[in-house]
Amino acid sequence: MNPRIYFDHSATTPLDPRVVDAMAQFLGGAFGNPSSQHNEGRIARAAVEKARAEVASLIGAAPEEIIFTASGTEADNLALLGVIEAKGAAGHVVTTAIEHAAVLHTCRALEKRGTKITYLAVNGEGLVCHRDLLRALQGSVDLVSIMAANNVVGTVQPIEELAQLSRLNGALFHTDAVQAAGKIPLDVNRLRVDLLSLSAHKLHGPKGVGTLYVRKGVQLSPIIFGGGHERGLRSATENVAGIVGFGTAAVIARQELEAEKLRLSKLRVQIADRLRDLSSKCYFFGHLTERLPGHLSFGFRGHESETGALISVLDEAGVAVSAGSACNAHHSGEPSGVLLAMGYNEVRARGLIRLSLGRFSTQEEIDRFFDKLSRALVRLKWQEHVPAGTHRDGSFVQTMLS
Ligand code: PLP
Repeated sequence: MNPRIYFDHSATTPLDPRVVDAMAQFLGGAFGNPSSQHNEGRIARAAVEKARAEVASLIGAAPEEIIFTASGTEADNLALLGVIEAKGAAGHVVTTAIEHAAVLHTCRALEKRGTKITYLAVNGEGLVCHRDLLRALQGSVDLVSIMAANNVVGTVQPIEELAQLSRLNGALFHTDAVQAAGKIPLDVNRLRVDLLSLSAHKLHGPKGVGTLYVRKGVQLSPIIFGGGHERGLRSATENVAGIVGFGTAAVIARQELEAEKLRLSKLRVQIADRLRDLSSKCYFFGHLTERLPGHLSFGFRGHESETGALISVLDEAGVAVSAGSACNAHHSGEPSGVLLAMGYNEVRARGLIRLSLGRFSTQEEIDRFFDKLSRALVRLKWQEHVPAGTHRDGSFVQTMLS
């Protein structure tokens, strides 16, 4: 039997075996508490500090600017709540309508406490308009939070320019780089961001570990209180094995980034071409070029309300793809808020299928995916038969389906 095809790396990624190896020691023998003064504690502390330097080097930061958290969600919460809390007043945050729930829901919580929140619109490709940001910055703004890459449509924002505009107008700049990290180059000093969120499980590291980069000098209040770990910004005994895994995942991601970016971009373009060849009903979401290398969002005209059925049929056939973000899975059938914000109507906003590749995705998987997708479209009666010659690599697709 053929193994399953996992094309949902934007939801989470499998652990890289090299990450598993690095973590193994800290899941077994090396169990010390990094805050302990004895040898066991010192071994754990050294491992945490090594990982801190490794994660820092993925984004060009200094190790002391890295705060380990329990998730990307927590890093986003710490950035937004921490800045406003440190200000000691209600404040004003500017963000976009297409942020991840970790930012949007934090903004809602802030709103309830009296913080003014301005939600910037995006265009049909998911890009923020500089002029809109400039307009929002005319008032007094404490923090701008704009994601580096969108998890639903894959569009990559011009963070360097947006951060510069914010800085020139006296606002701090945070970017949620959870989807972007390890896939496109990110250097905090080139981008000149003040705060940046990461999550290990999106780059072949473990779940339950995140990072907030905090530029030296940025005033931030903690949101979790206790023993004063992580420079007092995130109390709790460190998840040593998880942090070690994050460090190793960051090193691998940095070393392989350029080659992977190229490889995944080529595979994505090939998939888009083959989808177009397979069905004239297929259309795409997000920016054509300013996008994550291995991320593709698409729909089938006239079948938007049946997207869930296609995803289920593919799942039965051994293929994992998703309808937008995993966080919205609890609200399946509802239109995507990201697509509505991009100007799509409710019908189109229900029709999104997200396919996201990762380090272990292969050409062979893509070929098998198209075979299964062709069969699924026929089974669902979205298509009568599969056109011959669908495979661009020269292999032949059956025209008569069983
Ligand atoms: N931000 C973005 C853009 C994401 O895609 C995700 C996860 O899907 C998160 C934040 C949350 O990260 P975590 O799963 O580590 O809480």
